[in-house]
Amino acid sequence: MAAGYTPPLQDIRFVLDHLVDLEGLSKLPDLGHADPATVHGLLEEYGRFTAEVFAPLDRIGDLQGSRFDPSTGNVTTPDGFRDAWQRYADAGWGSVPFDPEHGGGGFPWLVAVAMQELLCSASMAFSLCPLLNQSAVEMLTAWGGEEHEVFLRKMISGEWTGTMNLTESDAGSDVGALRAKAFPADDGTWRIKGQKIFITYGEHDLTENIVHLVLARTPDAGPGTKGISCFIVPKFLARSDGSPGERNDVKCVSIEHKLGIHASPTCVMAFGDDGEGAVGYLIGDANAGMRYMFTMMNNARLSVGLQGLSVAERAYQAALAYAQERHQGRRPGQRANETVAIIEHPDVRRMLLTQRASIEAMRALLYLNGWAIDMARHHADAAERARRQELVELLTPVSKAWCSDLGNELTSLAVQVHGGMGYVEEAGVAQQYRDIRIAAIYEGTNGIQAIDLVTRKLPIREGAAVRELIERMRREAAQAADGPAPSIEPALADAVDAVSEATEWLLAHGAAGRDPVDALAGATPFLRMFGTVIGGYLLAHQAAAAGRLLDAGGNGYDNDFLRAKVSTAKFYAEQLLPQARGLLGAVVAGQGDLYAVEPKYLTGA
Ligand SMILES: Cc1cc2nc3c(=O)[nH]c(=O)nc-3n(C[C@H](O)[C@H](O)[C@H](O)COP(=O)(O)OP(=O)(O)OC[C@H]3O[C@@H](n4cnc5c(N)ncnc54)[C@H](O)[C@@H]3O)c2cc1C
Repeated sequence: MAAGYTPPLQDIRFVLDHLVDLEGLSKLPDLGHADPATVHGLLEEYGRFTAEVFAPLDRIGDLQGSRFDPSTGNVTTPDGFRDAWQRYADAGWGSVPFDPEHGGGGFPWLVAVAMQELLCSASMAFSLCPLLNQSAVEMLTAWGGEEHEVFLRKMISGEWTGTMNLTESDAGSDVGALRAKAFPADDGTWRIKGQKIFITYGEHDLTENIVHLVLARTPDAGPGTKGISCFIVPKFLARSDGSPGERNDVKCVSIEHKLGIHASPTCVMAFGDDGEGAVGYLIGDANAGMRYMFTMMNNARLSVGLQGLSVAERAYQAALAYAQERHQGRRPGQRANETVAIIEHPDVRRMLLTQRASIEAMRALLYLNGWAIDMARHHADAAERARRQELVELLTPVSKAWCSDLGNELTSLAVQVHGGMGYVEEAGVAQQYRDIRIAAIYEGTNGIQAIDLVTRKLPIREGAAVRELIERMRREAAQAADGPAPSIEPALADAVDAVSEATEWLLAHGAAGRDPVDALAGATPFLRMFGTVIGGYLLAHQAAAAGRLLDAGGNGYDNDFLRAKVSTAKFYAEQLLPQARGLLGAVVAGQGDLYAVEPKYLTGA
C-alpha cells in the first residue's frame, strides 16, 4: 500500500517562471537552448520517467537493500536497479547539466536542481548514485586535466560512476585529520594506501567501472587541510581506447547496516591492501585537494538540502491522500453515527498546511540557490557574477541544513498524520522518515553548516552581502501591504527585524569580535531563524506574483492553485514565521548556559 509519487510540476513551473527568472537565464551566453518551453517539456518527461521507473523501486530497495559478498567483495543492488540505471543512462538524463565540451547537455544548474528534486522524491536511495557522480563530474570539469578526459566523459555518459572518498575513522567533520597516503611512482602516477569509511556507492553492480576521487597525503605534506591532495583511483584502469583494463588494488571490504537508504551501499574501501598501493592520478597540484573538493561541496550541499525537500514532498503526498481516505471521529455538533475524514480536523489541517507551506518555502530557497549558481557562472557582467556568487555562498549552508532539518521534521509530521499506520512499514512514510535522517549528518553535519554560515558567510564583504539580502527582504515585506494577503507585511517585517538584530550581534561577536565561542554557541539557532525568514520572504514574493496572475485571469495556471499559493504564504507568515523572533534569545545568549554545568554533572543520577 506504499504510496506512489506525482511530480509537483505546476509548483515547479511557478517557481521557475515567477520566482527565479528562467526566461532571463535562457538569454545568457550559452544557455539559449534552455528556454522555458523546452525546460518545462523536459521536466514533464523526466517527471513521468522518475514516477514510472524509480518510484516503484523505492520500496523494493528498502526491503532488499544492497548486499555484500565478502568472498568476492562484490555489491549487488536490489532487483530492478541495474535495469533502471541502464534506462537512465541510455536516455542521457545524467548528462543534462554538464559541459557540452565533455559530452554534457549544457543546461543550467537550475534545471539540474529541478531534476534532482524529481529523482530524489521517486527514490532517495537510488538518487545518491547520480548525486555522487555529479559531484565527481563537477570536480573534474573544474580541475581535471586533458589526461583525465576519459574518466569525465564516461561519468557524464553514465557508463561509469564517480564516488567521493573523504571520510576516515578518525577524520569525519575534521577532514584535515585524514591519514591516507599517496606515494609517487616512477611513471608519474601515484600509489594510494589507506582506508576510507562510509563511501556511498563505493562498490556496486550498476556500471562496468567506478571512478573514486580520493583525498590523501603526499609524503612531504604538512598537517591539516593544507596537506591534502586529490587523486583519481579507478576500480579498473582505463585502456587507451577508454575500455576498462587491469583491476586496480581498491576494494570494498564491507557495507554498513543502517537506519535508512538501504539500497544505497555505504562502503568501507581499502586502497592498496595487496601490494605497493592502488594506482592513482593526481588532480591539479599537490596539497591543493581541499580547494578542489570545495568546488564540488557547494553543489553537493545544495543537493543534500534538496533531499530534505524531495523526501518531505513524497511523505506529504502520502499524508494528504491518507487524510482524505481515513475516517475517524466527528466535527463538533455532528451526530454520533457520522464520521469525517481526518482531514476535517483542525489539528490534521495544521499538520498538512505546515508541511505544504514549508515544502513551498524550501523549494523556493533551493531553486533560488540553483539560479544564483547559473548567474554566477554565466552572466556577462563580472560584477553581477561576483554578487551572485556571494548569494550562493550565503545561501548554501542554509539550503543544506535548514532543508534537511525540515525534511526530518516534516516526514515525522507525515507519520503523525497517519496515526498508528504511520508507524507500520507498509504505509511507506516510515521509510521516508528513516531515509531522510542522514541528510542532516552527511556532507558536513548541520552543526558544521551553521558554523560555516556564521564564521565565513556572514562576514562576506564585512557583512555587506547579508545586509543587502536583509534589505531586500524588508522591501518585500513593505510591498506585501498592498498585495493579496496584507497580513504578511507585519509578520515578515517583524521577522526581518529579528534576523537583522541577530546578524548584527553575530557579526560583532564573530571571528573578529569579542569571543568567537559566543557566536558559535548561537550558530544553529541563527541558521534556523535565517532559513525561516528567507522562506517567509520567498513565499511573500510568490504570493504577490500569484495575486498578479489571478488579476490577469490565471495566465495558464489553475485559479485554485494560485489562490492556494496566496493562502499558504499567509499561513506561513502568520503561523510559522513568528518562530523566527522566538529564536533571537538563543542566538544572542552566548556560551554561558551551555558551559555552566560540568559534563560529569550533566547526568541526572
Ligand atoms: C550513509 C552515509 C553516507 C556517507 N557518504 C559519504 C561519502 O560518500 N563520502 C565520504 O567521504 N563520507 C561519507 N559519509 C561520511 C559523513 O560525511 C560523515 O559521517 C560526516 O561528515 C560526519 O562525520 P563523523 O561521522 O565523523 O561525525 P563527527 O565529526 O564525529 O561528529 C559528531 C558530532 O560532533 C559534531 N562536531 C564535530 N566537530 C565539530 C565542531 N568543530 N564544532 C561543532 N560540532 C562539531 C558534529 O556536528 C556531530 O554532531 C557518509 C556517512 C553516512 C552515514
